[in-house]
Amino acid sequence: MSTPYDTCALCPRLCRHACPVATVWEPGAPSAIAEVLRDGALGRVDASLAQLAALACTDCGACQEACAIDRPVPELLRKFVPKVEVPTQLPPIAGTASEVAVCSGDRRWAEAFAAQTGRAVASWTPPANWHETDSKTFGELFSGRTAIVADGEDARALRGAGVVVVWLGDALGWVTEASCSSGRPALACCGGRGPLRDAHPEPAAALAQLWWARSGGQTLADARCRRALGRQDVVDQLLAGT
Ligand code: SF4
Ligand code: SF4
Repeated sequence: MSTPYDTCALCPRLCRHACPVATVWEPGAPSAIAEVLRDGALGRVDASLAQLAALACTDCGACQEACAIDRPVPELLRKFVPKVEVPTQLPPIAGTASEVAVCSGDRRWAEAFAAQTGRAVASWTPPANWHETDSKTFGELFSGRTAIVADGEDARALRGAGVVVVWLGDALGWVTEASCSSGRPALACCGGRGPLRDAHPEPAAALAQLWWARSGGQTLADARCRRALGRQDVVDQLLAGT
């Protein structure tokens, strides 16, 4: 019986050099993942193991680009990635100030920002997976306002919806933060993000560190990348100072 993963599973890892995950973690090489998925499709291994293998990917597409026969690896892997629950509606922005603190995750830093800067700031606390909702919805929500962000995925989603985005560190005047990995093309991502970061934190952190070292410290990165690198991020500094 054949499966869509056979070609990659039997390939002598010809795209391995292109895969960022494989540079730090051999089980994350595209053909290694395909071997597990093939076994999963044939019922030889548990579906949860196949899912874990599929989550070793950052969805960058480098393997497909390097492949001489254009195998659509990211698309094939996505079939095993669990569907996220997308919120049906987004909460309103609290406050009327033109600057809006986007406090995703579990840290609420709008008040600390207002205290630190003496500026009025509105706040928005979005639910998990809000990036997956229709970008028109959150584009309209922020219409005419500036989003202050501390998270790369937030920055990417809001920029994609045409919202003006400012990094928290820049808004505080503390640091000039480099553009987040997630705000740049996926291929330029350090890999310490997305499903890989959530399902396999150790190789994700190793990848973030490698990317950081290779860039000579110039490509940092969002709050979570800072955490992956073991560095204090701007939100932590802000909250610690109040
Ligand atoms: S994407 Fe192409 S090069 Fe990479 S494992 Fe599959 S068949 Fe081989
Ligand atoms: S899409 Fe990127 S991270 Fe995923 S297997 Fe291919 S090269 Fe590796």
